[in-house]
Amino acid sequence: MDTETSSVKMFFFPFVGGGHQIPMVDTARVFASHGVTSTILTTPSNVHHFQNSITRDQTSGLPITIHLLTEQSPITDTDMTAGPMVDTSSLLEPLTQYLVDHRPDCVVVDMFHRWAGDLLHELGIPRIVFTGNGCFPRCIVDNMRKHDVLQNLSSDSEPFLVPGLPHRVELTRSQIPIFMRNISQGPDRLKQLEEKSLGTVINSFYGLEPDYADYVRNELGNKAWLVGPVSLCNRTVEDKTERGKKPTIDEQSCLNWLNSKKPNSVVYLSFGSFAGMAEKQLKEIAYGLEASDQSFIWVVGKILNSSENGSENWLPDGFEQRMKEQGKGLILRGWVPQILILEHEAVGGFVTHCGWNSTVEGVCAGVPMITWPLTAEQFLNEKLITEVLRVGVQVGSKEWGSWEGERKEVVGREKVEVAVKKVMVKSEEVEEMRRRVREIAGSARKAVEEGGTSYGDVDALIQELKARRLASHV
Ligand code: UDP
Repeated sequence: MDTETSSVKMFFFPFVGGGHQIPMVDTARVFASHGVTSTILTTPSNVHHFQNSITRDQTSGLPITIHLLTEQSPITDTDMTAGPMVDTSSLLEPLTQYLVDHRPDCVVVDMFHRWAGDLLHELGIPRIVFTGNGCFPRCIVDNMRKHDVLQNLSSDSEPFLVPGLPHRVELTRSQIPIFMRNISQGPDRLKQLEEKSLGTVINSFYGLEPDYADYVRNELGNKAWLVGPVSLCNRTVEDKTERGKKPTIDEQSCLNWLNSKKPNSVVYLSFGSFAGMAEKQLKEIAYGLEASDQSFIWVVGKILNSSENGSENWLPDGFEQRMKEQGKGLILRGWVPQILILEHEAVGGFVTHCGWNSTVEGVCAGVPMITWPLTAEQFLNEKLITEVLRVGVQVGSKEWGSWEGERKEVVGREKVEVAVKKVMVKSEEVEEMRRRVREIAGSARKAVEEGGTSYGDVDALIQELKARRLASHV
């Protein structure tokens, strides 16, 4: 390799689930747009989720390629709905082989490829961690660990104040992931991962969570490059549509439906790529939506413990037909082009499970949110949205559950109706929220343009990798 002149070479090794694969592919595209030779390492069964956008980038001259790793035994879940525990270690051999033959300046590796860190360490290849999360939850978790706040609570529903934060954030034990409820006792695996890496690449931007970005850098001592919102690299309708699985609705029908609606009159509901809901919960959503009298696009995700195969008796009698005839609502099963929908001027509210990507995408679209966290770190993101940024209202979800397990708690139809109306019916409070979220959306766009903070962080990482390469050759 010509150390002086050849461009920096980065490999990106995304996880198989939607919420991790999508932002890392976007991140690879962002780095390519800054001149990095980017290679995405993936499998034949995953590549079709993003092949077209990469081909378009190549056609427009970006230095980006895909390398296919053939798994030794099939990875169980490759349809973008994979949960974090899916085992990808059957990629160990093909990855080793490829890395031995093609040495990059670094590999950006998803933390859910649990085995990959050791491999990169053995091969002496610098790595950068990708967690898929923002800075805010990282700071909450760190403070919970330090201050041991969960020990003296009398019940799972007793609120506690998270210490050490610049904002007042209260949580309950029921909102904390089960595996974190003894957090102060176990080893800090994320820290260990970070310590062995050059740092973390984060799909966020400084203006979104400045105090928390500072905390990550100063208090945790991590190198962190905030390079997002990476979804903003999708500038064409094609890129916005072909992001993840093939949508169940063609983009034109979806846009035609939205075009027939007034600005800010449609509420969009989606719960991400992998968490499921029980039938009785879906029924409450349907009743709540109808009572709210608002137009909606509702993406029904995985249905837990479905009673009869394929039957849809969780929908109230005649609900779907009524909504269709009145032009009131679209019920979509499967995948939809989320950012295309969110950016449409007819969409005025977003019922979200607070997955990190959806959070950032909602902010970028300038849409106030109705927060309905379910699993992972989503209850923490809810606090960022509703209490720190103040761009959303809570539906009243109180119980963390595993993504595949049914919750005891059902959020009732009244709560759905009230929360949807709060955001969709004009009021001073919601206009203020709308103004705030639009302002943040503007700063998101500035962050990724030349001169912006994220643009600068991408270049800073590239410079660091160049300097390391030079240093290793003197
Ligand atoms: N997504 C999409 N269409 C869908 C469902 C999800 O485009 O029908 C995208 C969404 O835009 C986001 C990602 O999938 O980029 C989901 O990530 P998030 O962090 O919001 O949630 P997760 O799926 O990890 O729970």
